[in-house]
Amino acid sequence: MLISRRNLLRHIAAGAAATAAVPSLAEVALGAGKAGGPIRLSRNENAYGPSAKVTAAMQEAVLNVPNRYPEVEAEALRMKIAALNGVALEQVVLGCGSSEIMRMAVDAFVGSRKKLLVALPTFDLIGGFARGSGAEVVEVALSTDYSHNLGAMLARADDATGLVYICNPNNPTGSLTRRQDIEVFVRSLPATAYVLIDEAYHHYVSPSADYASFIDRPLDDNRVIVARTFSKVYGLAGLRVGYAIAAPPTARLLDSYRLPEEVNIIAAKAAVTALDDTEHVLESVRRNTDDRQEFLNQANARMVRAIDSHTNFVMINAAQSAAEVIEHFKNNNITLPQPFSSFDAHLRVSIGTTAEMREFWRVWDLMPNHPMAHE
Ligand code: PLP
Repeated sequence: MLISRRNLLRHIAAGAAATAAVPSLAEVALGAGKAGGPIRLSRNENAYGPSAKVTAAMQEAVLNVPNRYPEVEAEALRMKIAALNGVALEQVVLGCGSSEIMRMAVDAFVGSRKKLLVALPTFDLIGGFARGSGAEVVEVALSTDYSHNLGAMLARADDATGLVYICNPNNPTGSLTRRQDIEVFVRSLPATAYVLIDEAYHHYVSPSADYASFIDRPLDDNRVIVARTFSKVYGLAGLRVGYAIAAPPTARLLDSYRLPEEVNIIAAKAAVTALDDTEHVLESVRRNTDDRQEFLNQANARMVRAIDSHTNFVMINAAQSAAEVIEHFKNNNITLPQPFSSFDAHLRVSIGTTAEMREFWRVWDLMPNHPMAHE
């Protein structure tokens, strides 16, 4: 069919209008189009999003080569991770978020017959995977200082323990377990038990004698697997990229449970760029430190107690039913996570932008029975 010049011009104008109506990736990343949606303080994402360089890399990736499978890009990401961390390529396993690393670790080391040993409360996704495969999950309450109670965990470990999960810093408490204590613990475990150390919030930990990443200072132990994610400080939760680093035979075993092509081209390119953008990481950490301090100041002013946090979220003692407080926030357009096992008067609050946190406290002060309401 021939198209007249006038129709062609109309066509082009309509196309341009449609393009203008669609926000660019950069606008989306900066929050365009979010107005009116709930303020999400429930998933511990980086509220400020990825860096401008990462946004540009994603835009470029969208325009190029999505018709090809991502093997080259995924390999480039593995190489970048290996180089940055001073490990061999064969030690790096990619995942569709570190969630997939957990699923692989359960499949590889727990299955239906072995046990998973975890703290309570902790990030329970891995427990869900283990229960789903029919395995027993042994839960050990945190110590009174909210570190992992490694002595008690050791007492529950036996030859049927396939995997131990240590989330450090821990989600939902934001608390640290001392590096020295973890080392002693790992050495004392039955030789058949693997250990997954989840360092999702690693970048938020201030330098301290009590903390060192097990990637930066590895243990000479084939049973240790370290998981990291691009969902937190890098601001890429929506892209779903995570990875594990382990000794070659362990990484190989883990990798055998990986979905093929688990990381897409856009995610792989964004992640490579994010790893190079150390300035953005530092800036995100600095902002989080400031916003978290302001959050603690506001909590103090209301006599609300908070657990010392080494992350981008804080657990506070609401001193009343967490479920009711969560409902109150929901009714005021703020999403908080559901209460955590054995912490039914506590809330875990992700640190959002400065404006979002101002709104959090405004809504807090609307609660009919919060301790300061009648003063
Ligand atoms: N590990 C911890 C401790 C987390 O808190 C989260 C998400 O909140 C994850 C892992 C999952 O991260 P990903 O988005 O990489 O699957």
